[in-house]
Amino acid sequence: MTGLSDLPIRDDLRGLSPYGAPQLDVPVRLNTNENSYPMPEPVVEAIGKAVAAELRDLNRYPDRDALALRADLAAYLGHGIDAEGVWAANGSNEIQQQLLQAFGGPGRSALGFTPAYSMHPLLALGTGTRWVPARRGVDFGLTADEAVAQVREHHPDVVFLCSPNNPTGTALDPAVIAAVLDVAPGMVVVDEAYAEFARPGTVSALAVLPDHPRLVVTRTMSKAFGFAGGRLGYLAADPAVVAAVQLVRLPYHLSALTQAAARAALAHREALLGTVAAISQQRDRIVTELRRRNLRVADSDANFVLYEVGGDQSVAWRALLDQGVLVRDVGLPGWLRVTAGTPAETDAFLAAMDKIQREGT
Ligand code: PMP
Repeated sequence: MTGLSDLPIRDDLRGLSPYGAPQLDVPVRLNTNENSYPMPEPVVEAIGKAVAAELRDLNRYPDRDALALRADLAAYLGHGIDAEGVWAANGSNEIQQQLLQAFGGPGRSALGFTPAYSMHPLLALGTGTRWVPARRGVDFGLTADEAVAQVREHHPDVVFLCSPNNPTGTALDPAVIAAVLDVAPGMVVVDEAYAEFARPGTVSALAVLPDHPRLVVTRTMSKAFGFAGGRLGYLAADPAVVAAVQLVRLPYHLSALTQAAARAALAHREALLGTVAAISQQRDRIVTELRRRNLRVADSDANFVLYEVGGDQSVAWRALLDQGVLVRDVGLPGWLRVTAGTPAETDAFLAAMDKIQREGT
């Protein structure tokens, strides 16, 4: 049988494993920050109709520039953003890949403040962009001084900021973003996949887009909209950035079915985003309850919580799984990440944690 190592694969891909959060069929799945609530029935029907209306025309390629969808996304974002300043793709993963294809690549570098979203370095690898793992400070925080010093040291072509940050959950102080924009020699990408869950008072980087042509804000419908399976991510930026990613995107990358489904979902955004408050409430409940159990917990503006298990996290992860609760071991010694879902899922997670604390892992 032919193995991977028998193929003439690129040297920098040899021996690597693909991104792979376990997809296990267990009762309580809290490991990939999905929205636990299924699509409401009226939205299912609306998406079904919208997709059905496309079927007869599937002999034709879709709108390559997804203009109607981009206009809908711009209207959702507000902040005076219009369709020319928005670009859409199959998840914000693809958006970020396109950004690295356009602004990174061989001979160029991208910097991120770890721990952050694990796909950023993998997208850098895939696009031949050198990855610079910069550090976060005390308690996974990031101050303007810490960020500026590392950007100045490395002169990256692309800086990734993640706010709210995955896996820690905390949103960035806008002063950090402003300071990085001041010193970064290239593009600054603020990954706001979880923006809709942010606690009151948190400011989106969308607000400063008009002043910064090299700022890109990436968003997704995977989390707050509960549309992860639909695969729709997008960016907001100066229209020149959109022109840049159009140089590297595959023609017709976004299927007619995806565009129609996403537009129907956006038209029902009130019903879909109705879950955000309920999920944020469970997120706050998890933070409070874990702290009450004397565990260290990072502040969260997202739909997940990073917490210290008080022992080996891989043992605790297994002990939770044995009780039917799947959380995420992000490879941070002593810490686990749990997604906030329904009240019943929180109950099951907390009961499983209690059992671990009672019996030891
Ligand atoms: N950014 C961050 C910080 C994420 O956590 C995720 C999903 N886990 C993504 C981007 C990608 O999401 P999608 O491709 O589904 O839009």
